[in-house]
Amino acid sequence: MSRLTANAPKYMASFACIGSACEENCCHGWSVSINKATFKRYRDCKDDDLASRLKENVVRREGSGNPTADYARIKLQADGNCPFLSADALCDIQGKLGASALSTTCSTYPRQYNAVDAALSLTASLSCPEAARKALLDPEAMDPVQVETDFAHPTAVPLSLGLRNISRDPVSAARWRVHEAAVALLANPTLDAVEALVLIGMLTRRVEETIATGDIAGLPAEVDKAIHLFTAPMTVLDARQLISGLEVDLRLQMLLLKELTVEYIVTVGGRPSFRSMVVDAVNGIAYRDDDVAGSAERYRAATETWFKPFVATRQHLLKNYLRNDVQRTFFPLSGKEPGMRSFYELAVRFGLIQMYLIGLSAGLREGFDEASFVRVIYTFVRNIEHNPAFLPRVIELLGSNGHLNLATMMTLLKV
Ligand code: SF4
Repeated sequence: MSRLTANAPKYMASFACIGSACEENCCHGWSVSINKATFKRYRDCKDDDLASRLKENVVRREGSGNPTADYARIKLQADGNCPFLSADALCDIQGKLGASALSTTCSTYPRQYNAVDAALSLTASLSCPEAARKALLDPEAMDPVQVETDFAHPTAVPLSLGLRNISRDPVSAARWRVHEAAVALLANPTLDAVEALVLIGMLTRRVEETIATGDIAGLPAEVDKAIHLFTAPMTVLDARQLISGLEVDLRLQMLLLKELTVEYIVTVGGRPSFRSMVVDAVNGIAYRDDDVAGSAERYRAATETWFKPFVATRQHLLKNYLRNDVQRTFFPLSGKEPGMRSFYELAVRFGLIQMYLIGLSAGLREGFDEASFVRVIYTFVRNIEHNPAFLPRVIELLGSNGHLNLATMMTLLKV
């Protein structure tokens, strides 16, 4: 066994799966890959009952793109549940063969390991309700700590993202510095979530414009200047004034975000918990297609009366989502295209989350609480973020309609 140290947010030091107490366990609806070694272990199982269930429900993947890691898959039941989920919502494989017999997905989720050269980092996907609670509710949940973790071998860490020799590539090095500045802006307690996001967008745009000039030799100095500018107290004040003076068309914001939600539900469907959260948000503002003006007015009223006062004293709820995401995805280095595209995806996700929260606040009023945040975040991440095709398609759509710019993103973000 190798004991490895990972940089992590504080909440990871105390996170633990709550098993049968979980409101929506992760043993439903996900395809789980089984590697070759685990598959062989299942075939050697000596427990008659489990052995026959393993034989029936763990199926070889003929012609798999990744013959070692994706050697076989667990066949889900007709209701989408994992066939090894017991009546008391526990895992029969773990119960009979031990945790070491679990697939990489099952033994790791919701943990996500990333590495930059030799530095290992650990975060969680907030699609897990318990991880979302831990990460969002504590104002100090994202404070940096180090956690120790055991692996059979250092090379056995199931990395989601790995960056190597970043300093040797000037463009990646520049983007990594944007990443570090984004982490710092989101941690700045004087900025609210939208202010921090807008500054991150401006900084990313400036650095990407410099990259686009092709002046690689001058890139480090230009990145220095840009980071200095967009983290300077005067720029922060200017950005705050700019954002507060911005006239936002909430009707347009609501319609655009609603259309994206309809697109997701029509093309993907989504899990029942996500669809029911969206229905509650829509019903909250009593949205009607034949009364868009009235719906927009109810959206505005809910924003002012319920949503804004609630988050004014709890900015960590929104900021911790962003901080976790930026650290988990290595923004702006990940995604289909690094750079501004990563920012647009982040801004669209934030806008959608905020709209659902406003809708829920309209319906729940005094009952709108921290649990409402957890519900929106975990159902959102489990559906929209876990779908690799949807957000890239949204970005294409926005681009083809001329909406892929900072001005449109501000329309989606500011309430
Ligand atoms: S979603 Fe999270 S808390 Fe729920 S069963 Fe899975 S790991 Fe455990």
